[in-house]
Amino acid sequence: MTAGELASVKRLSDWNHDRLLSLAESHRTPLYVLDLDRIEANYKRFTTAFPDADVMYAAKAHTGQAVLSQLLDAGATIECAAAGELKRAIRAGADPNNLQYTAVNPPAEDLDYAASLGADYPGLTITGGARDTFDRLAERGYDGRVAIRVNPGIGTGHHEKVATGKDAKFGIPYGEVQEVAADLRDQFDLVGLHAHMGSGVLHDDLDAHCEAIAKVADLAATVGDLEFVDIGGGFGVPYREDESPLDLAVVSDRVREAVDGLDATLKLEPGRYIVADAELILTRVNTIKEAPSTTVVGVDASIATLVRPAMFGSYHPIRNITAPNRENSPVSIGGPCCTSADVFATNRPIAKPTRDDILAIGNAGAYGYELASQFHSQPRPAEVTLSGDVVRRRETLDDVLRVEEEAQ
Ligand SMILES: *Cc1c(COP(=O)(O)O)cnc(C)c1O
Repeated sequence: MTAGELASVKRLSDWNHDRLLSLAESHRTPLYVLDLDRIEANYKRFTTAFPDADVMYAAKAHTGQAVLSQLLDAGATIECAAAGELKRAIRAGADPNNLQYTAVNPPAEDLDYAASLGADYPGLTITGGARDTFDRLAERGYDGRVAIRVNPGIGTGHHEKVATGKDAKFGIPYGEVQEVAADLRDQFDLVGLHAHMGSGVLHDDLDAHCEAIAKVADLAATVGDLEFVDIGGGFGVPYREDESPLDLAVVSDRVREAVDGLDATLKLEPGRYIVADAELILTRVNTIKEAPSTTVVGVDASIATLVRPAMFGSYHPIRNITAPNRENSPVSIGGPCCTSADVFATNRPIAKPTRDDILAIGNAGAYGYELASQFHSQPRPAEVTLSGDVVRRRETLDDVLRVEEEAQ
């Protein structure tokens, strides 16, 4: 393993630019480039920081089969938030007995599938965040392992849209958990409490995050007789070049302090942390326009390729990898979609782009391809590994049209 892989953050400047340029030539753009070794390194760094905890990868950040297989090979177990993710994890080789399914307002088909999976694989754990979800499981004859998702009343994270810990949508209200737990024990094997407070937690959010964790640990002591307390994911990564990465040793100490005396296994479910900096997007400059207010750089990636900037106002680092040493110049970078939300950066200084340059958009591994769409009839991009294996081929217009043509 190289020093870069051990480092706790992989910045755009750490990627081999010649390699990236050659991938852009052979596979066209926009292109997702995945560093599978980095995913494994992130997972190992995380598990090393929490040696006696049970670390599950929260698949929804990136459900690519290549990612799931890499993590399964490294010994990870997988947390799924939908039936489709359970099926994907199993296809990638996961033992259903080790899977955990976190049901949030689960559609009937999802519960049907999870209940039947649980009948065949008694190790499956299903987490519910509403009494009604447990009733629906019981109606399906499910009597296996369950965990209660707790709403601790404290949410944390990089954006209000991901601060789930205080959102009424998620979890059973703190004050009701004890009673629900007692009721559930008659029907199910109650094995844990679960809470996922939000996403993108960095050092500034740690106090609130650990306060919520401590509340859940206190509750676990009252409920008693539990196999695990799952404190979810939400561990942040630096998106800005000058932001420092989470010091996992500090996080681990703080978490340990928050769950001090806990008589159950600590479980964590990082998603973003494992995959964010292990993938970037390569995009080609197609248009340069000197507008009175700014220089507009048109690229072939768009809101359909990466929606996070438009959806969450997220910052993603961008580097001109064709000419990283050119003089910096403030530019606004946007894609070919007819909405003013289709913008990756506004007046951001980068090495001045010219037409045909390749730009890299960093930290695209978490909720990147996962949220990609076919907006504007744009086929979704290919995804290749650093070694050049195509793990998702580029879609064609036929792929986009198929669901309509097959309907006829
Ligand atoms: C989304 C999610 C995670 C992972 O969140 P990250 O911010 O990607 O770490 C973990 N657990 C549950 C239940 C989730 O919904």
